[in-house]
Amino acid sequence: MADEILVLDQVRKAYNVGTSVETEVLHGIDLVMRRGQFLALMGPSGSGKSTLMNIIGLMDRPTGGRYHLDGIDVGKLGDDELSRLRGRLFGFVFQSYNLVPRLTALEQVELPLVYQGVTNRRKRAIAALRQVGLAERMNHRPTQLSGGQQQRVAIARSLVVSPRVILADEPTGALDTQTSHEVMALFAALVDERDITVIFVTHEFDVAQHARRIVRMSDGRVVEDGVTADVVARRLAAGVPGVMPAPASVTGQAAAG
Ligand code: ADP
Ligand code: MG
Repeated sequence: MADEILVLDQVRKAYNVGTSVETEVLHGIDLVMRRGQFLALMGPSGSGKSTLMNIIGLMDRPTGGRYHLDGIDVGKLGDDELSRLRGRLFGFVFQSYNLVPRLTALEQVELPLVYQGVTNRRKRAIAALRQVGLAERMNHRPTQLSGGQQQRVAIARSLVVSPRVILADEPTGALDTQTSHEVMALFAALVDERDITVIFVTHEFDVAQHARRIVRMSDGRVVEDGVTADVVARRLAAGVPGVMPAPASVTGQAAAG
């Protein structure tokens, strides 16, 4: 029980579009995640992945169902409590990195600590950059870094607050195949070494194979939830193209569940 960090029970989301017309885009999502789980969220464009990620990350409220985060019923919290909880528990990584153009890598990573009023910022930021393998680039600005390096700076920035959960919405969407695999291997290492829970969105099955669990959505519903190796095997058996052989290390992880 205490091991369950996220528990979504029949979570719904409806938007008011135009006058009185309500459009429901999440139709009752059940999802339980334990600490240290590494999950890939897949599904076609418009299936509700980002809406779900925003609800999980307390950026948006559901219009139905219940959401318990670290044992807390977040539906009972006010906006200030929600944003404090968000800052304490979550790190966010985006497809477009969202770095500040004029800041160095070190300054980017220090930024969340400035907002939190932390004192030993430099030391913690350097440690986070070291963890993503970028200690030698800490005085570089975004234009002086490759896409993969910029995303690693963004991951360091998400890590520096010691989050329990990292939410990454299409973190490899702007990266080439090789760099995508490097970034996913980094997430996998963080899950192992720091017991962080990671949820990432991807359209690509070979990227999803870095996770240990794949949840697939379609039209606002969860249509598949399983161990990575099983989901990929079913997909291969169905003759769906586009699945690349996983690196050996990944196959080992998937088989171990
Ligand atoms: P995905 O991330 O899987 O591509 P989204 O969660 O972004 O999907 O969107 C799911 C559905 O919700 C889409 O039909 C989208 O048009 C709709 N939607 C998303 N945000 C809003 C909003 N603020 N107002 C109205 N409809 C929205
Ligand atoms: Mg999206």
